[in-house]
Amino acid sequence: MYRFSRSIYRALAPHVIGDEQDDSLARNRQAVLEACEETIRRLMVDGRYFARPARTLFNDVRMYFSMQDQQRVWCVIERNLAIAQQCLQEMPELLDLEGQPRECRAHTRKGTPCQREPLPGRDYCPSHKHLEETFEAAEIEMSQFERQFDRDLVPA
Ligand SMILES: [Zn+2]
Repeated sequence: MYRFSRSIYRALAPHVIGDEQDDSLARNRQAVLEACEETIRRLMVDGRYFARPARTLFNDVRMYFSMQDQQRVWCVIERNLAIAQQCLQEMPELLDLEGQPRECRAHTRKGTPCQREPLPGRDYCPSHKHLEETFEAAEIEMSQFERQFDRDLVPA
């Protein structure tokens, strides 16, 4: 299911704008990615009570885009979430008992989602297991970067 949040993010990331605190766009892009993933997670876990997911996600991320891009952002979100919701209705068996997706988060060489069943407790299947380690390393790097950033903000 997270292929939907990835697909929204990939369509939106190039249009994210920076601000005084974020020339590099890294933090704003990260915020957009997290908002997309949180929306998909809520749809899976609590879909029946999540009345207007597209509206909610749009309101969460719209400040990261310029005025000219607002319409485009809304269209991307609306279209992808409509497909995601349809998918959830038609294929509830994709989810395990906790409502978690049981599909590998990697992409094949053709660029299509892998969709194989991940290893127990992991996000990737046996052939993509190495990607999980890479991703964890990237996350550690990111949090170190953020700590550094927070330190820099503290007045001397
Ligand atoms: Zn895989």
